[in-house]
Amino acid sequence: MISGDELTRYGRQIVYPGFGKVGQENLRASRVLVVGVGGLGCTASVHLAYAGVGHITIVDKDSVELSNLNRQILYWESDIGRKKPISAADKLRMINSSVRITPVCKKITEASVDKLVEEADVVIDGLDNYDTRFVVNAACVRKRIPFIHAGVNGFLGQITTIVPGKTPCLACIYSAPPAPEKPILVFGVTLALMASLQVMEAIKLIAGFGETLGGRMLYFNGETMEFAYEDLVKNPRCSVCGIGRRNLKESCK
Ligand SMILES: [Zn+2]
Repeated sequence: MISGDELTRYGRQIVYPGFGKVGQENLRASRVLVVGVGGLGCTASVHLAYAGVGHITIVDKDSVELSNLNRQILYWESDIGRKKPISAADKLRMINSSVRITPVCKKITEASVDKLVEEADVVIDGLDNYDTRFVVNAACVRKRIPFIHAGVNGFLGQITTIVPGKTPCLACIYSAPPAPEKPILVFGVTLALMASLQVMEAIKLIAGFGETLGGRMLYFNGETMEFAYEDLVKNPRCSVCGIGRRNLKESCK
């Protein structure tokens, strides 16, 4: 039961129609995996902690650099050189000491991804490259865990929610990982916006209200302040979630 300090702390969101104490209990009982604690992952994990998600796992292989400090809001000048998940965990525990934070300082690979994903209720995409996004997408499909994808380029952003078994997956949308953009252009404000939208999606999925972006890509253009939607189509021959996967399995026998 939600009571005492929790009622006070989360009172302004508990009164939201359709959320209530049950929604807050669901958040407290949930575990969210944030893959990549850069610009998207920092803002997303801050709002997950503020909202009262019970357990947040943050994964990143990198250490803090000066060039991160225009956008990665959990890192300060004194953190340069520290491992990102360790530094982020310190701040998140100061934000909300009742939230359990598990920092994981390693690269996400085919070998490590399943264990991380299967322990989560929702996975948030904080990555900056499509090769690793494809690895996480495939694991989420295998383990049937929702994956909230977002990507940012300058003042442009995109977001969709992948619910395995129900919506198109990332490999339905892109037949192969798009090539990386060099250099990656990033403004902190675009990342903060898209990461906030990712946490909105996570809260709705966990608490069970509202409509998600399942089956739709939301695009944002910060130069013109336009939002646009695209309906996404499941690829029946998708190599990750469709018949392509079964063919591949059968041909491997
Ligand atoms: Zn697919």
